[in-house]
This record gives sequence, C-alpha cells and structure tokens, in this order.
Amino acid sequence: MDVLAFSPHPDDAELGTGGFLLEMRKKGYTTGIVDLTAGELSSAATAEIRAAESEEASRLLDLEVRETMNFRDGSLTDSFDSRLQVAEIIRRYKPRVVLAPYHEDRHPDHVACSLTVKSAVLYARLKKLGEPHYLTHLYYYMLNTPFAPTFIMDISHSFEKKMEVLSCYRSQFGAEIPLLKDYIPHARTKASYYGSLVSVAYGEPFGIEGFLKVSDPVNP
Ligand SMILES: [Zn+2]
Repeated sequence: MDVLAFSPHPDDAELGTGGFLLEMRKKGYTTGIVDLTAGELSSAATAEIRAAESEEASRLLDLEVRETMNFRDGSLTDSFDSRLQVAEIIRRYKPRVVLAPYHEDRHPDHVACSLTVKSAVLYARLKKLGEPHYLTHLYYYMLNTPFAPTFIMDISHSFEKKMEVLSCYRSQFGAEIPLLKDYIPHARTKASYYGSLVSVAYGEPFGIEGFLKVSDPVNP
C-alpha cells in the first residue's frame, strides 16, 4: 500500500486528509484508512450507523482498505499495547506514507492516536517485534488545533469530492449538535484559507517532524 491514514474515529481522516487521499488516488497510488475506534460514543449515532456512513465514504474515496480496530471510543491511550497493535497494522500493509492527526488537539483520542502512531512507526522497524517495515514519511494532518504546516497540499481539483465524502457522515455533520453542525461550512473556509497561503483555491495543511527534503528548488 502507498498511503495509509490512521483515524481516531470514522470521519477524522476524511476531514483532515480527505483531499490528500483523493489526490493520491488520482495519481494511481493505493490508499487506506484504519479507524482506531468505531466512534461508538457519538451522541448523534450508533456504531452501526457510523459504520454504514464510513462504508459510503470509503467507496467515494476509492480506498483499497478500510478497517476498524477494537480500541474503545473515548478511552484511547498511548500505551505499549496500542503501539504494538498499530505497528502490526503497519507491518501488514507496508505503507510508504503514514498519516496521523497532529498531537495537539482538544479531543484526548486524537492526541492518543497521534502519539500511538508515532511510536508504532518506530516499533514497526524493530526486528525483534516482527518483520521490519520502514516507511518514507509520517505526515500529521490537522483536526481542531492549528499548527504551522510544513507543507500545504493543493486539493483544489478534489475539494468538491471531499465535501461529498464528508456529507456521507450525515449523523455527525447533519446533526444539530454544537461544534459538529458547523464542521462542513468551516471545512470549506479552512481549505480556502490554507489554499490562499499557497495561491490555490483549496489546500490541506500537513506537518512533519524534522524537515522535508527538496532536491530541485527551481521546480519543486
Ligand atoms: Zn475524532
């Protein structure tokens, strides 16, 4: 697999990196999302409704893999056990690029997912824990808390499709629940803002630890 996104709950990866995943598919790369929880604590829906919505979103994203792990919604923890389980998934799918939420966020599951994936990427390389797998990059996508991005992906040509993907999550973004009900209009505003920083219509921000190598600064 080329690109694998880890998502604390179904819909987080779509929000933070849906445009990136659509752009990668257009370039012929294989993509997948692994949800760490089923989002069963949601005030607006049952786990079954959320599963049906994420299936619909996965079809639109043309994902090769969509899988849900068994961690409990609301009590996801960065632990030795969670790191080992996520490392197993990385070993199984052998992604070149892994995507995870940024580590600062108001939701504790988002923070735990970020930290767990970061350590799991390292654990996946350890021979004594299993068949080693080295990826090219771990990119962090933005959810609730802004950060200074390392790069902004131009998603102008896949943005409307991303909105369609988000609209699959009717129980979440269609509900009259404070915070949730404004997600879709705000997703448009945010994408337009990040796009404006690199002079395109819509953009998605990403962070890395360390630096991104550029070989040809004249034609990057
Ligand atoms: Zn979430």
